[in-house]
Amino acid sequence: MQTQTLERMESDVRTYSRSFPVVFTKAQNARLTDETGREYIDFLAGAGTLNYGHNNPKIKQALVDYLASDGIVHGLDFWTAAKRDYLETLEEVIFKPRGLDYKVHFPGPTGTNAVEAAIRLARVAKGRHNIVTFTNGFHGVTMGALATTGNRKFREATGGIPTQGASFLPYDGYMGEATDTLDYFEKLLGDKSGGLDVPAGVIVETVQGEGGINVAGLDWLKRLEGICRAHDILLIVDDIQAGCGRTGKFFSFEHADVVPDIVTNSKSLSGFGLPFAHVLMRPELDKWKPGQYNGTFRGFNLAFTTAAAALRQYWSDDTFERDVQRKGRIVEERFQKIAAWLTEECGIESSERGRGLMRGIDVGSGDIADKITGQAFENGLIIETSGQDGEVVKCLCPLTIPDEDLIEALDILEASARQALS
Ligand code: PLP
Repeated sequence: MQTQTLERMESDVRTYSRSFPVVFTKAQNARLTDETGREYIDFLAGAGTLNYGHNNPKIKQALVDYLASDGIVHGLDFWTAAKRDYLETLEEVIFKPRGLDYKVHFPGPTGTNAVEAAIRLARVAKGRHNIVTFTNGFHGVTMGALATTGNRKFREATGGIPTQGASFLPYDGYMGEATDTLDYFEKLLGDKSGGLDVPAGVIVETVQGEGGINVAGLDWLKRLEGICRAHDILLIVDDIQAGCGRTGKFFSFEHADVVPDIVTNSKSLSGFGLPFAHVLMRPELDKWKPGQYNGTFRGFNLAFTTAAAALRQYWSDDTFERDVQRKGRIVEERFQKIAAWLTEECGIESSERGRGLMRGIDVGSGDIADKITGQAFENGLIIETSGQDGEVVKCLCPLTIPDEDLIEALDILEASARQALS
């Protein structure tokens, strides 16, 4: 395999190609092929960007048809028929059945772009600078979003410029099961000497993806919503990784019956792996003046087309979400088995956690997790880690993965753990 040009020319900042140093050529649903013809099952799926699989044929057809008809590809933020169709579909298929009412801001196409826009909006709307964020949260790496991201590896890479405007509080479970960390938040808000600047907003992931598949309890999320309402603080749910069906509902906050003031979406939003993001906001929060938060790539027409096709294909009824929950239980069971084996046979304190098809096995250390995922790659499975030391082996497989591939991938993972640790 020819990798010299790639190694020589691409910046050292590259990451995933270090764990999977092969050259990929093709992909279909949950399978990737490298240029030697070797196939791999994909349990990473573009870090949660390919919830509907690689090259999903139904979504691809919409894209091909659109291109063939000379549809507008780039249109700044012009009104286009593709944008109108996407917004109408979003309203009909997603908002109305859930009783939601949001306006939509298309910022730049990445997750971090959406987070920047969301926290800026909260500040503009409330006239306060502070944003509360949580330990182990990951919200992106541009300066505003980075201020709300916990991991030191990212925070230290600013060339010495301090990150500003965010206060960290303990996420659910951070202080152990016996402590409800929201007691601390509530106490600080009620204490004029507590040192917490009353925030404009709170940004939260309902399941922390990069932070190690930490799952917020549904009661905790509901209580967080209540605290925000009581103190006139905006609740921002960052659904960039946990959204688009990953946890078994279109929005991850649906499980907790919470209605955020602001929502960020990206990753799987386009349905096809195209760069696409939006911020949803309660209509009265739309405080932007025309052009005040502007840019060149604001809504990508190819992504409008594929995103609308994905919504129509998978979200017109509850068949898909029930299937995700079913597959989630298959992964949960096997992960529990692997965690039990690690604990009982290898003496490695290990546990399984997650919601829907966003699941992980905490194997206690990044070294052990790397051994398992490295062996899995040798055996034909692409799977990554997360958590502060990369100690959680994480499943982000396409939600559309066929059962045969799912079982094969779990067999590979289990065998790889045994091989790596015996
Ligand atoms: N927010 C969450 C919850 C994420 O998981 C990520 C990326 O993993 C981001 C924001 C940043 O998205 P992007 O990598 O597209 O900038």
